[in-house]
Amino acid sequence: MADKRDYYEVLGVDKNVTEAELKKAYRKIAKKYHPDTNPGDAEAEAKFKEAAEAYAVLSDPEKRSQYDRLGHAAFDQNGGGGFGGFGFDMSDMGDIFGDIFGDMFGGGSQRRQSNGPMKGANIKTTVRVKFEDAVFGTTQELELPLKDECQACQGSGAQPGHQPETCTKCGGKGQVVYTQQSLFGVVRNVQVCPECSGSGKVIKFKCSQCAGTGYVKSKKKIQVQVPAGIDNGQSIRIRGKGEPGINGGERGDLLVTVLVDRHPNFKRQEYDLFSSEPITFTQAALGGTITINTIDGPIEQQIAAGTQTDTKIKLKGKGVPTLRNKNVRGDHYVTLVVQVPDKLTEEQKNILNEYDEATGSTARRSTDSAGEFSFGGHKKKFGKKK
Ligand SMILES: [Zn+2]
Ligand SMILES: [Zn+2]
Repeated sequence: MADKRDYYEVLGVDKNVTEAELKKAYRKIAKKYHPDTNPGDAEAEAKFKEAAEAYAVLSDPEKRSQYDRLGHAAFDQNGGGGFGGFGFDMSDMGDIFGDIFGDMFGGGSQRRQSNGPMKGANIKTTVRVKFEDAVFGTTQELELPLKDECQACQGSGAQPGHQPETCTKCGGKGQVVYTQQSLFGVVRNVQVCPECSGSGKVIKFKCSQCAGTGYVKSKKKIQVQVPAGIDNGQSIRIRGKGEPGINGGERGDLLVTVLVDRHPNFKRQEYDLFSSEPITFTQAALGGTITINTIDGPIEQQIAAGTQTDTKIKLKGKGVPTLRNKNVRGDHYVTLVVQVPDKLTEEQKNILNEYDEATGSTARRSTDSAGEFSFGGHKKKFGKKK
């Protein structure tokens, strides 16, 4: 995967390309290298596939953002630490051909090969996980109704004792050819046979167990390995848990989109965590040891005397493990918030009055506290770390 070309480079577009421009660029390349116009040309075929793959990723907003963040590693099947890997494989390309070439030739031209083995359709579902489980990874069990071949008719869909018959509309080919006058001249338009939906067979006596579909549905338990570091909206591909294949093709995949619950204390941005921690007026003034809640649990932290409210502390490597390597983690940024006491006893009031007299009530405007939320090169004093 290391020598893979950048997807934007493959399509000759820049990173800010709009969807419309992207489609245009892809069409141009796909047309140029299409196997139909370059029969037997292996290099053209490779270029065509490369472009199709690039387009498949960049035309999908979710995959595009994953790619922008992680590069090819986002879809590297081997790099994800034992889970199904993200997003893309060549089986997704069917949709794209339909999309691009369908409207190029005036709609409806399907490139589906009838009668040959075909991979089953993918199934999409969602799983909800706790914030901490998305950070550290977890296993979730899903129960889904999955289709299986009907035992009664062995998937034929016909009543026992009967056989599906060859479709008379398409002669069993599963597709019908229309010719059409267009700007390019006469265009042959191949469509899936409407009579038999491309199977080439019609069933007169339907199996009662499966109503002629050849499949029965039953609830199946599926273990989903949710990798550490996954973020809200990202998907996990589980191979072979989709719809059954057609004519002996392999099963489709199950695509599980992960929805992550919010956390009352932590906010997440990419692999970094953000939280605020209250400190008392005296802790802020005198400094000392405070307790900070991290995603790993509470830790002790030294703060300097005279720590101002809104001071930020960066806890390096205390953020979210990255998908590529769970030992590499983002950072945790903590904002210290000084609490002003709102209930005081007489004794406390007296002490504060004495304090006030001793200091002469001189609040002064801090020269550097504009209160902006910046981590890089800010002037505020950090708490000293151990
Ligand atoms: Zn059946
Ligand atoms: Zn037919």
